[in-house]
Amino acid sequence: MTAKKIIEDCEDLYNDLDFTSVKTWKEKTGGKAIGYLPVYVPREIIHAAGMLPVGIMGGGPNLEIIKGDAYFQSYICHIPRSTIELGLLNKLDCMEGFLFPAICDVIRNLSGMWQILFPEKYVRYLDLPQNFDKEIGGEFYRHEMEQLLHDLEELSGNKVTPEKLNRSIGLYNKNRQVIDKLYAMRVAQPHLVLTSDLYLLLRAGNVMDVEDHTRLLEGYMAEVVKEDRKKFDNIRVIVSGAFCEQPPLALIKGLEASGCYIVEDDWVLGARFLQKDVPITADPLEALSDAYLNDSVSTSSKYEDEKEKGKYLVDQVKMLNAGGVIFCAPSFCDPALLERPMLTAALEREKIPHTSFKYAENTGQFSMFREQTGTFADSIKLWGEA
Ligand code: SF4
Repeated sequence: MTAKKIIEDCEDLYNDLDFTSVKTWKEKTGGKAIGYLPVYVPREIIHAAGMLPVGIMGGGPNLEIIKGDAYFQSYICHIPRSTIELGLLNKLDCMEGFLFPAICDVIRNLSGMWQILFPEKYVRYLDLPQNFDKEIGGEFYRHEMEQLLHDLEELSGNKVTPEKLNRSIGLYNKNRQVIDKLYAMRVAQPHLVLTSDLYLLLRAGNVMDVEDHTRLLEGYMAEVVKEDRKKFDNIRVIVSGAFCEQPPLALIKGLEASGCYIVEDDWVLGARFLQKDVPITADPLEALSDAYLNDSVSTSSKYEDEKEKGKYLVDQVKMLNAGGVIFCAPSFCDPALLERPMLTAALEREKIPHTSFKYAENTGQFSMFREQTGTFADSIKLWGEA
């Protein structure tokens, strides 16, 4: 299959709000499916229980919100409205349970609303540690995961042994390794691995079995090198802030078309949240906990009190030879927008150019963003600053 065809198939999955691939997986395996909201959940535990973890990233640009708005005040982000809308339209009926990981009050409230609206479904608010001491945050997180594991054993009827969990950890390690290779390939040849391709490939992983997804990524990488794609005199940039509600695909394409090669981003971040392999040990829950505490990504979506704010972004810019940073966050996203001043201060100390805009997942007008990022890229090209 050509790279183009692979991406067309991924785009079909991206546009499919009926989650047909999830239904097909269930028919084939007889297993159950667990939906999870952004940003990170330990998918290994769901997989080890013989269930399909399904990433739910709102309704995107193709869903008209009719009832979802009635459940929320005006001044919050868009993803909870479209997620409720999907639920009320019975689009998520193919999932037996839902995980709402701790990220902000909006997701916390959504988990409560879900319990009221869909009482027949399993719903769990998954608290993630905000203390990175193994004896405190690690102990707490381990307890959370034990509860989750116990619940999923009951729901699936499958016992999760350490062997099964280690097998799942191995499969997700492999998946993250291949995603890392894809990102490295884009850093080296951003004209070849288009960001819109990379984004659709990651989104496909939300609704596929992990082994199938790994093969899909490997297939794309093997095929895309055969393409003859033109190089442009684009500016290398990092996009930051899109870790939860996702920008519309057309917006991502617009950024690329405005003269920017995106060499790092934080969309679909849960797929890359752990930055090293989780070790295979006799105590896999401890290994997952340690990985979260010690080897997870630096992002505004994770509480960190001790680290120097913005250092990771400055380091990324230097390491990837990027010309600047585009802050691209959902409107009213507290985790992204409250940390922004600290991130911009860190960039300014290093004289790294940056620009920013806000979007909603259903934003329809892109010309303004394209002009802004195009001007940003041009000014870096001409004067080395924005
Ligand atoms: S987009 Fe931001 S504010 Fe909205 S649910 Fe996600 S993290 Fe919370």
